This record gives sequence, structure tokens and C-alpha cells, in this order.
Amino acid sequence: MVLLIGIDDTDSRQGRCTTHLAYRIVDFLFSNGYEVEEYPFLARLNPNIPWKTRGNGAVCIKVKADMESREGEHVMQIVKEMVESNSMLGYGANPGIVFLGRCKNIEPIVRFANDALWRVMSIRGAIKVIEECKNYDSSIEYYAMGNGQGIVGALASIGLASSMLDDYTFEVIAYRRQEMCGLPRLVDEASVMMMDKATHPYTFNNYDYKHARVLITPHGPDPVLFGIRGDDPCILLDALSMLKVHEPLEGYMLFRSNQGTNAHLANMLDASNLKAYTSGYIQGRVASEPLAIEGGHTFFALECYGNNGYGSGDEDGYGKGNVLCAVYEPTGLSPIAQALSIGDVLEVGGGVRKGTSKHPKVLNVEYIKVVDLARKVRYMNPLCICGKRLKSEGKGKGYGCKKCGYRVRDAEKVDVEVARDLRLGLYLPDAKAHRHLTKPLHRYGIKPGCMRLDIDWFNNNSRFTR
Ligand code: ATP
Repeated sequence: MVLLIGIDDTDSRQGRCTTHLAYRIVDFLFSNGYEVEEYPFLARLNPNIPWKTRGNGAVCIKVKADMESREGEHVMQIVKEMVESNSMLGYGANPGIVFLGRCKNIEPIVRFANDALWRVMSIRGAIKVIEECKNYDSSIEYYAMGNGQGIVGALASIGLASSMLDDYTFEVIAYRRQEMCGLPRLVDEASVMMMDKATHPYTFNNYDYKHARVLITPHGPDPVLFGIRGDDPCILLDALSMLKVHEPLEGYMLFRSNQGTNAHLANMLDASNLKAYTSGYIQGRVASEPLAIEGGHTFFALECYGNNGYGSGDEDGYGKGNVLCAVYEPTGLSPIAQALSIGDVLEVGGGVRKGTSKHPKVLNVEYIKVVDLARKVRYMNPLCICGKRLKSEGKGKGYGCKKCGYRVRDAEKVDVEVARDLRLGLYLPDAKAHRHLTKPLHRYGIKPGCMRLDIDWFNNNSRFTR
């Protein structure tokens, strides 16, 4: 029998981290003789939810235990106590725990999880799914603290961990000792670059060479020292051993995850009825010349077609059928957006920003796929027989050549195709602007790696201290 434990919303901007709590729970389970079935699953949910703390992460742990046995009850009791005492309750955390034991039909939970990747889900909706599961004779329980919002992520993490995902990745997360939290992270930058080069393409988003920036270390007071993401758990452990770390570690743990898979952008949005905070993609033709504003941000309108319907923009003054797309400077995609022209055919992925009295509803762009380029022409004077371009001799007087003297009365201006400063293809933000779920370019076409349980995937001592 397996007991699935979903946990979310234990941290706040002031500190702590749900993955660290999961690490501590796994530590407790191992040291009390329980068998953890596989690496915990780190679920990243809709990144456009406004009440997330950072990356909208939730964790699911699978432990070998019968939920209805004394063992199962012991595990649940300890997990509840650990969540309660290790959460930032009162500082913005609203923890939720879901325990799932015997389950006759996981489908409602999987469906809920897939929706939580791109939609806004309610606490009531989560509880309804839990009650529905009980009707299927499943053993399922939930605990909500604070305003109860954590139930959404806790349930969704169980759904994703139980799904046959088409794609997934892994992350090894190393944790700091408590006394180090809040101090600068002592990870040697050169060793991060070296590790990146040695393990590419099996690890990703380690270092942003364009901006000379380490990407594996977060910046807040939380206990995460660094996280290395990739496709092969063994290579992740190699990568970890390549880093020069000048502070003691509390330990590390490997997670399986939907990070780096674009799972939040898999659905086509209904452009005629864009809902605030949803994530997905739209397809259509560029309907306005791109507008660059101060700060390097660029806006353009996309006239959507196909399943998108038409929509959103008319009341905002962008013309009926158009969705206003916003490309922000930090993404590095502004030059691409500025090279667009009316008529270009695109697929654009991103999250819907709520409209306000000052700003219209917009799609914050996370990728641009240029599917077709419009022909761009300039009207020019015709060419002379000698190859030079003719000059106009005045209205209705025809054209003459300054070089050879050739004159022609009834010539007209001609279309001359202008070379486009843009190619067909997929354009992603710079690595530093990637969200946890952004699929890096090199991962397109890659098959998910294997979870190996015969490796040192959990480590609670400091043997990587140097
Ligand atoms: P961290 O990444 O540091 O763990 P976080 O960014 O995950 O933090 P949380 O503190 O967990 O942020 O807050 C996210 C909250 O949003 C949780 O309560 C979670 O249950 C909820 N949530 C997640 N996805 C959705 C969704 N699709 N609709 C509604 N609520 C959601």
C-alpha cells in the first residue's frame, strides 16, 4: 500500500521552502524505517497565480504505508505536526496537506491537477474533488491551515505525481544549515560554469552567459543553497559534486518534476474570452506594427483565428478580434517583437494579465513562434536599362536616369521586397528570465530520463562540505 502526501503553501517571502520541509519529512521517514517509494515530485503549477510566493511549487511524497494502519496514522500525525511547526503560518503561508491512500479512481484528481497547471482553481473545487474520491471508496483526507488555499496545490501535486506525464525532468536541491540562511550563498561561480559546460545538455539553466549570472542559487532567505536541473539523475549528482561550495550543507534531495516542460502552456486559450491569470497559447496574425515603449517593452496586437475565436481587445481600443501581447524587456524578446510586421503568422505563449482601469488585459509573452512571415514591400522608382534607379522628373513628367540620360514617360513606381530581419522559428526568453516551467530550447524532442533508486538520491550529512 502506498500513502501519497501532498503539501503546499508552507513558506512566505520571509523564509522557509516547501521543498525543504519535504526533505525534512523524507529524513523523518527514512530514519524511522519507512520506505519512500520514489523521489518526491516537485509540481510547478500555474505560474500566473497572483498569490504565489515564488515559483508556485507543491510537493508530493510517496511512502510505503497503509493509510488505515497504525503506521499510516503515525506518518500522517507526524507530517501534520511537521507542517504546522515548520510553516510560516501568520506570515502569509496557508498550508494544505492531502493524504491519499487506497484509490479506486485517480482521474478526478489528475483532471484537477491538469487544470491547476493553467487555470485558477478554488478551494471549494479541490474539496469537491476530494469528496468525489470518497464516493469512489478512496481513502483521502485533507488538512487546511490559514485560509486553506494550500489544499489546491497539495491535491494537484498528488494528481501530477500519479499521472503518466509525457515529459518530466529532475532537480537536485541542496539545503543550507539554518545558521547560514539569510547570508550570501557561498557557491563558487567558476565551478558553476565548469559544471555547466561539463554536463550540458543533460543539465540546464545553470548559468546565464549573456548576463554573467549564476542561475542555480536563489536570492532570498530560504534554506535552498542551490538547485541543479536536468534530465538524468546520475548526471545531476555528478554535477553536484563538481561544485565548489564554501559553506556546510544540511543535505540534498533529488526531485522528479514538471519543470522545464512548458506544461502550463499546453492549452490554447479562448481569445474571445481571455480569463485573467490563465496560461496558454494563442495563434493568429500580427494586426498592429509593434510599439516599443520606454524601458524596452514592446506591445503588438494579434488577430486570433481558428479555435481561439476572436476577441478581447475591442473595448480596449485595439480593434475587434485582437489580443494585445506584451513583451517585457527582461525577457530579451523585445528585439524579436520589434522585428514583427503586420500579417506575420505567430503562435504566442504566455499568461493573461488582469485588465485594470488604466491597463487593458494583455497576454504577457513567454515565447513567440514565428510560423509565417508577411511579405514586406517598399514602393520605389523603377530601374533604368543601365541598372541605376530612375529619378522622378516631377508629377506626370515621367522618370529620367542621371547616369545614362535614358528617359521614360509612362513608368510607374514598383514594389520592391524588403528583406525581413526575422526568421521562422521559436524564440524563448533569455535564461535568466525563464520561469521554472519554461522548456529550454535544447529540451525540444528530448525523452524524459529514468528515475534511478539505486543512487544516493537523498543525503542528510555534510559530505559535500569543502
Ligand atoms: P515556493 O515556490 O517557494 O514553494 P510558491 O510560489 O509555491 O512558493 P505558495 O506559498 O505555495 O507559493 O502559494 C501558492 C498558492 O497558490 C498555494 O496556496 C497553492 O495551493 C495555490 N495554487 C497553486 N496553483 C493554483 C491554481 N492553479 N489556482 C489557484 N490556486 C493555486
